[in-house]
Amino acid sequence: MGEIINVKEIVSRKKENLKLEIEELKSKGIIPKLVVILANNEDASRVYVSKKRKLCKELGILEEEYIFDETVKEQEIEDLLEKLNNDILVHGILVQLPLFKHLDSKKILETISPKKDVDGFHPVNIGKLMQGTGSIVPCTPKGIMTILNEVQPNIEGKEAVVVGRSLIVGRPMSALFLNKGATVTTCHSKTKNLKDHTSKADILVVATGVAHLITEDMVKEGSIVIDVGINRLDGKLIGDVDTENVVKRAKYVTPVPGGVGLTTVYTLMENLVELAKSLALK
Ligand code: NAD
Repeated sequence: MGEIINVKEIVSRKKENLKLEIEELKSKGIIPKLVVILANNEDASRVYVSKKRKLCKELGILEEEYIFDETVKEQEIEDLLEKLNNDILVHGILVQLPLFKHLDSKKILETISPKKDVDGFHPVNIGKLMQGTGSIVPCTPKGIMTILNEVQPNIEGKEAVVVGRSLIVGRPMSALFLNKGATVTTCHSKTKNLKDHTSKADILVVATGVAHLITEDMVKEGSIVIDVGINRLDGKLIGDVDTENVVKRAKYVTPVPGGVGLTTVYTLMENLVELAKSLALK
């Protein structure tokens, strides 16, 4: 019988360290500031944004929010981004996805300065991740590395299998694993015989949005299983992993809720502090 990783405990410990770093920045006259732009009608986005803002408050980070309705023109958002790019008191800019359909997300994300790209979605930061030289990395996969660091710090030579190839989770996750010397397999909706891949994984990360896709028979004995999925079933939140049964065979499994979601929000703050530090050096 394996263990459900106590992600909440990991995050509260990390938060204490981050608070000290923020104090140090403040003693130098720098107060990290995050600006969030919301241009959609999704309830889930509002929940995420309120979680991010709450953590900013808890850590003593300044935050500001711009909310647009459906009449917003792309140019308005781009003008705002240019203004924020040039505002020396702003360290991180986050455009909450998805955006209203008439807006070009790719173009908007590329308007954010890579130096203020707190989500790590700008092509320059993605490019650096591929080179293994970047530190501003998308929050979900970077947060997963924080969790793994607690239970399996050295992943060199391990079989890492990522299910999902999205730009925000699967792809950057695979790149991070590769950078750390793991042998990486990326699976997706077109993968044949998924179980053949997942069952050889020492580390399995699942980010598909398919409730309970991964069952006990699909995981390797003694493996680490990271569940990224968030699915709503009968008013309950469940992951992409059948945790209750998978934990009988795996060594460690992350819970949903109270798992990767917590590190994602925390890592955003880590990225912001890092950006504030590097902008302060300029
Ligand atoms: P996405 O829809 O962009 O990508 C899903 C990926 O899963 C695709 O690459 C697709 O090919 C793959 N996939 C779908 N069905 C599959 C199947 N049957 N077998 C194998 N692969 C399959 O989603 P995303 O943005 O990467 O998010 C994935 C899930 O993670 C969602 O539930 C989302 O809500 C959740 N999520 C959680 C966090 C967090 O912080 N906890 C962050 C981001 C996303």
